[in-house]
Amino acid sequence: MPRREGGRSAYLVAALISASCLLLVAASHQEFHEAAGSRTLLKSHEQTNKVHCSRERSRSAWEAIYEYLMPVVEKEKYELPRKCRLHPDNDMFREQEQHKIHFDINEWRCGFCKKAFRAEKFLDQHFENRHNNLVDYSHGRCLADLCGALHCDLMLKFKKPKSKCSAAAAAKNRHLCESLADSCFPINQGPSASRLHEFFLRQFCDAHTCKGGSKPFPKGGRKETNRFYLALCALIVVLLPLFYLIVFLHQREMKKGGQNLRRISKIGQKKKPS
Ligand SMILES: [Zn+2]
Repeated sequence: MPRREGGRSAYLVAALISASCLLLVAASHQEFHEAAGSRTLLKSHEQTNKVHCSRERSRSAWEAIYEYLMPVVEKEKYELPRKCRLHPDNDMFREQEQHKIHFDINEWRCGFCKKAFRAEKFLDQHFENRHNNLVDYSHGRCLADLCGALHCDLMLKFKKPKSKCSAAAAAKNRHLCESLADSCFPINQGPSASRLHEFFLRQFCDAHTCKGGSKPFPKGGRKETNRFYLALCALIVVLLPLFYLIVFLHQREMKKGGQNLRRISKIGQKKKPS
């Protein structure tokens, strides 16, 4: 009887584990589809020919690099060559951006003079008015110029109405994208550079087409990695109590089994003398 009870509880535990796993998988699947959907909605083509360098678009280009390229570059321990336009030193706003101190939602501080501002845009204005001597405009170091190749619109949070795909614009962006891959990851620079060259083409360049089918950043980025760890943590939190429940039930069953054995051996001992 206790064996059958133990078996039933084991079935119950197994059912609980599989149910929680299914729930988690379903949740992550839905999240993936939502992300993919918003990406499709946001997908639109770049407007080039900028007269001045946009700080906002430069920032979004940097975000795309930081989020969807740098994790793999760091993993490969690869150093971007100085001639590569994705190198941090080739972003004219990098030094100012690194001197932004974000205390709170409504508190931004200038890292140069410690003046406080209510929003990031006021700090941007302050940089323009007070610390513009730090910006080096000389070498064509405008990261916003690479927005066509780097899918900046995906990084900018507002949603634009989906525009019709222009084959000429897609070809131009693809060409810019491939030239970035060649200058930043020359394939004759060893296995890491070759691997990163391939990765860059898949991650950024394949989506520059009107045929569809390829999405930008198919390999994911930092956020996706965090999401994965979050899911893993949730799984552990769910499974750990179940594990202890199994151990508890197993021990209880063992104890009952031991008692039964003792009873049987006692009966055996009583029977022996007669
Ligand atoms: Zn300042």
